[in-house]
Amino acid sequence: MKWTMAPSGMAEAAGVVIAALLADGHEAFFVGGCLRDELLGRPVHDMDLTTSALPEEVIALFPRCVPTGLAHGTVTVLQGGHSFEVTTYRTESGYADHRRPEHVSFVRDVKEDLRRRDFTINAICCGQDGVMIDPFHGARDLQLRLIRCVGKAEERFDEDALRMLRCVRFASVLDFAIAKNTWRGLLRQRDKLAHIAVERMRSEIERIVEGPHPQRGLGLLLRSGLLPRGKAPFPWTGRDLAAAAARSAGLADLQDARLRWALLLHALGSSADTAGELLRAWKFPGAALSGIAAVLRVREAWDAALAAEAPEDPGASAGLRRRWIAAVLAHGRSAAEGWLTVAEAAERAAGCSATATPTPERGAFSLGAAAASTSGPGSKASLPGIAQMRSWTAEMRLQSLGELAVSGHELTAVLDKRPGPWLGVLLNRLLLAAAAGEIANDNQLLLQEAQRMDRDEE
Ligand code: ATP
Ligand code: MG
Repeated sequence: MKWTMAPSGMAEAAGVVIAALLADGHEAFFVGGCLRDELLGRPVHDMDLTTSALPEEVIALFPRCVPTGLAHGTVTVLQGGHSFEVTTYRTESGYADHRRPEHVSFVRDVKEDLRRRDFTINAICCGQDGVMIDPFHGARDLQLRLIRCVGKAEERFDEDALRMLRCVRFASVLDFAIAKNTWRGLLRQRDKLAHIAVERMRSEIERIVEGPHPQRGLGLLLRSGLLPRGKAPFPWTGRDLAAAAARSAGLADLQDARLRWALLLHALGSSADTAGELLRAWKFPGAALSGIAAVLRVREAWDAALAAEAPEDPGASAGLRRRWIAAVLAHGRSAAEGWLTVAEAAERAAGCSATATPTPERGAFSLGAAAASTSGPGSKASLPGIAQMRSWTAEMRLQSLGELAVSGHELTAVLDKRPGPWLGVLLNRLLLAAAAGEIANDNQLLLQEAQRMDRDEE
């Protein structure tokens, strides 16, 4: 087998594993995703092997292996610095929970094994000699750019409801169409999605949103009606999702996954708090969750700034600048710059989509500053644009309390006060003043300013 899309070391090591199985009298093939991706000219990240050898025979043959899923016939073989899932030919039956088979039987014929696989494009195998076994015409479907179930779609989705999301994920990531019968089967079985663990569902949806064609995936999710049928909350209607898809047309331009989620949640009209709750319910890892919520918090801070400053006032710009800097300090520069990128993407979508009508009554499209540069004459034309906010951010003299040339300890000494909540407030006021360039970041000047602020308080 001549691999062009796999790292050569990986292909070589897999060849060694196959050769060892053949030499021991077994059959062994490359199978599934690696062949699909090779035939599509997409990078191959891992190689799965299927074999007639029983798991204990595989274990006996390879000194370095991990019994990953013995009951299902899977052994992970470590070879040449790579790891390969080697699975015994098997059939499955009795999917009582619409996810996992109750019975797995090892079989002698590789075609039986291919039959249990989800889609024709994933049911191809190939020997080391390069001869392909493709009983369900997966190679043809790759050419037709079509996702088609192996066998009767309705049954296949009933057996394992996760396949419905895999179907949408493959169609989205590969930008493929879905065969009519497959789609019909999906629509008939979509209520079964309620049986799927939240983490499984999330990981498919992550791959859709973070993949190369997120809009295609959102369109399919919308038309399938899958999202509201899962275990995790999805508090929007199809209409909301359609509008959000239009408003987030720039998703694919965002490289950072965190910003894609922020744009999507923004387009869905979600507050930072709601987004946080939702991402938690969807079991996003904590770091991802707080990163996304922080971006939305910057938006909220900026909306509040716009509401507070009456932008038609001549002095508004200075006030807005100060409030922006305060938001950057409160939520971090990364979140602030992230928000500007998101706002820009949302602005582009609004500019090119007639359906992206703002719905301010739900707070759905309060772009704040982003709205300014596209709004017509007579509207808030004096608002700072994104470029202006970027330069405010870039010009900030310091970013955090750690850089401030005065410590809490010095302040309590100079003001002769016990530490208390006042101290944090004062430090942050000094930080804002220094970051905004109103006062130099100099120990003596800051201490004087602190004394002045303290006197004014009294
Ligand atoms: P990728 O790794 O890019 O997600 P893949 O096709 O390798 O794609 P895996 O989840 O690694 O997907 O699964 C390996 C193979 O196992 C698939 O190609 C498919 O043949 C089979 N498979 C995986 N999940 C299922 C499922 N839920 N139902 C039936 N077959 C499946
Ligand atoms: Mg895989």
